[in-house]
Amino acid sequence: MRDELRNLRSRIDHPIRLVSLEIGEHPSAAVYMRNQRRAAENVGIEFQEVRLPADCPQAEVLRHIELWNFDEDVHGILVQRPMPDHIDVRIIQSHIAAEKDVEGMTPWNMGTILYRQPDLAPCTAAAAMKLLEKSEVDLQGAEAVVVGHSEIVGKPIAMFLLHHLSTVTVCHVGTRDLAAHTKRADIVVVAVGKAGLVTGDMLREGAVVVDIGINVTPDGMVGDCDFDTCSKVAAQITPVPGGVGPVTVAILMRNTLVAAGLAEAASV
Ligand code: NAP
Repeated sequence: MRDELRNLRSRIDHPIRLVSLEIGEHPSAAVYMRNQRRAAENVGIEFQEVRLPADCPQAEVLRHIELWNFDEDVHGILVQRPMPDHIDVRIIQSHIAAEKDVEGMTPWNMGTILYRQPDLAPCTAAAAMKLLEKSEVDLQGAEAVVVGHSEIVGKPIAMFLLHHLSTVTVCHVGTRDLAAHTKRADIVVVAVGKAGLVTGDMLREGAVVVDIGINVTPDGMVGDCDFDTCSKVAAQITPVPGGVGPVTVAILMRNTLVAAGLAEAASV
């Protein structure tokens, strides 16, 4: 991906700015922001951190977003989570101009997933697909099980897999027998946020497992899959940390470069 990012950057000859908005202060977001800043600097993107106070009214947040929407020097707008309870993340996200929505979460960018690959895809879902592509996993005709159906991760991944002609099953809290589904899958993508949800005995021998979950436990950060048992059965499995996370950050940078490129093309 490094070469892809360098190549995209080399085609744009003006400064590129990504604004990162944080409301209040969150130690958990600090780690993500450090990684994002480092990745941005590595590819020549200016990472501008803006922190508004925790009690900032929602209308004030929206005013900031409007200013960035119209600022030609801003190419991407990133919203850090969590947000204070009085802020509706959906309203904030929907307010971002679709062409600067580098997280791919506005209704427009989400909607374009139905028409196949959007310019700005949701980063984690795109990262999971990038890992499958780079691992040369044959998606056409594969039985794919996605565990978790959130708007930003599970649903877009299910749609992307469908575009590749996988036969997709989506599991969620209403699923009666999770193991019955995962056991017959060639590809298992897990995005729930429950450590140890999927264990080796729930997988088919030789399955490919993409573990998106992030769980902080007394033993450190782990995914949703029990790595010790799953890795004995799976042909390939992404580790946590160090698997989907860094690729998600790389996709965020790619989206920012794509947004900057689109803005440049629109201005000529
Ligand atoms: P989310 O919005 O909380 O969604 C979790 C999903 O899991 C929901 O669809 C939920 O269903 C489903 N679920 C809950 N319990 C389940 C169970 N027992 N069996 C099957 N499905 C179940 O979380 P998210 O934003 O999608 O994130 C999921 C995980 O990925 C989290 O651990 C998050 O930290 C991690 N994540 C990682 C990255 C990365 O870059 N690596 C990025 C984003 C998120 P209901 O809605 O029906 O309850």
